[in-house]
Amino acid sequence: MAAAPAAPVAAAAAAAGHRFDFDVIVVGAGIMGSCAAHAAASRGARALLLERFDLLHGLGSSHGESRTIRDAYTDARYPPMVRLAARLWADAEAESGGRRVLTQTPLLSLGPRSSAEVLASIRNAAGAEEVDDLGARWGGAFRVPDGWVAAVSERGGSGVLNATEAVKMFQELASKKGAVIRDNTEVVGIRRGPAEGGGVVVTTSAGEEFRGAKCVVTVGAWASKLVKSVAGVDLPIQPLHTMVLYWRIKPGHERELTAEAGFPTFSSYWDPHHVYSTPSLERPGMIKINCHGGPPCDPDSRDFVSGGGDVAERVAQWIDEFMPGHVETAGGPVESLPCMYSMTPDEDFVIDFLGGEFGEDVVIGAGFSGHGFKMGPAVGRILAEMAMDGEARTAAEAGVELGHFRINRFDGNPMGNAKDL
Ligand SMILES: Cc1cc2nc3c(=O)[nH]c(=O)nc-3n(C[C@H](O)[C@H](O)[C@H](O)COP(=O)(O)OP(=O)(O)OC[C@H]3O[C@@H](n4cnc5c(N)ncnc54)[C@H](O)[C@@H]3O)c2cc1C
Repeated sequence: MAAAPAAPVAAAAAAAGHRFDFDVIVVGAGIMGSCAAHAAASRGARALLLERFDLLHGLGSSHGESRTIRDAYTDARYPPMVRLAARLWADAEAESGGRRVLTQTPLLSLGPRSSAEVLASIRNAAGAEEVDDLGARWGGAFRVPDGWVAAVSERGGSGVLNATEAVKMFQELASKKGAVIRDNTEVVGIRRGPAEGGGVVVTTSAGEEFRGAKCVVTVGAWASKLVKSVAGVDLPIQPLHTMVLYWRIKPGHERELTAEAGFPTFSSYWDPHHVYSTPSLERPGMIKINCHGGPPCDPDSRDFVSGGGDVAERVAQWIDEFMPGHVETAGGPVESLPCMYSMTPDEDFVIDFLGGEFGEDVVIGAGFSGHGFKMGPAVGRILAEMAMDGEARTAAEAGVELGHFRINRFDGNPMGNAKDL
């Protein structure tokens, strides 16, 4: 999907009487950048999407075959964004001719009744109802101790998103709307355009330059590095090396744990481990069960062999405690795939204008803290509107509060937003 080289782009823009090569230049083609490029191009903007690696590579955060979409958030400010995203996921599937990237499943939240987090997540999930027969559901897959609470939601748009397919879908839709997409193009600089012309100039490691009216930066785990180097701004976003773990389902139980049989995505709040899972779907006979988080890493020099730390041991411990009859832990996970989180101290996103000399010409979407994928289409729309209109009207209409995503929440306050729980 590589585009024409830079010089013809600039020449074509100049010939058409445009002051800029592009209206919106998006840096980083993970889910956020791909959705932002699609949203901008859908509004008629001349959009350019730049990606440093091959498209759909596996070195960032948006690859693989499963991400949960769920509104069972402990923080009540997120469900409106999930609902907006769910609507936009459906719109995108329809726009792409009925392609399916979302498999709907029930949603299960469980944890000790003493956990404020599990209670809040149940309260905030649409249609979640406490169940007292968990041991009898799904072939008795869960062994839940006394004092635990479990709630199931059969609606609310929860399910499993095929991550790589979803990124591909948005890139293809963006391209159809006229966006130019360039891979193997690393952005190394963003600077103000000349005083008389304004806008921004985006430079690449190959020495190319693109002039844009606006720029959206969605570079995932590289956000702190890039923003520091182009604007001198410190974003407290820590990359974590995390793992996607697939476990073998014990013989005879393979079907019970499938999405097709109605097995849920689930989240277990078991201090100190937040364990989550998607039903058996993409790898028959296996189920993905993971632990939220991972050890800090440098995105440019990760340890792909042992970088995941003790995540697999912690998940195995959880499985042996709560799903011992259905999932095999002997020998460890059958497959482990590396991935990255971009953690903020408060685990809230960063969605804001970069400010400083860039004012409202550069918008940043970063720090998605291991829970951003489901929000991709909503975040992309918000970033595109901020770049093009200076405000995100869709967010306001959907009741999505953006105030707690601002960069200045960290000013003199390294931990960011206070949490009620
Ligand atoms: C194991 C795992 C499980 C997860 N599970 C869930 C889940 O169930 N539900 C959920 O909602 N979220 C989940 N997440 C989180 C979600 O996947 C991320 O929040 C989301 O993918 C972040 O997308 P992004 O576009 O910000 O980052 P990325 O996908 O990393 O995209 C950033 C892109 O920018 C590119 N880039 C970087 N620097 C440059 C540069 N200088 N020039 C050009 N391009 C550049 C990178 O190569 C990359 O392609 C999970 C994450 C992981 C790792």
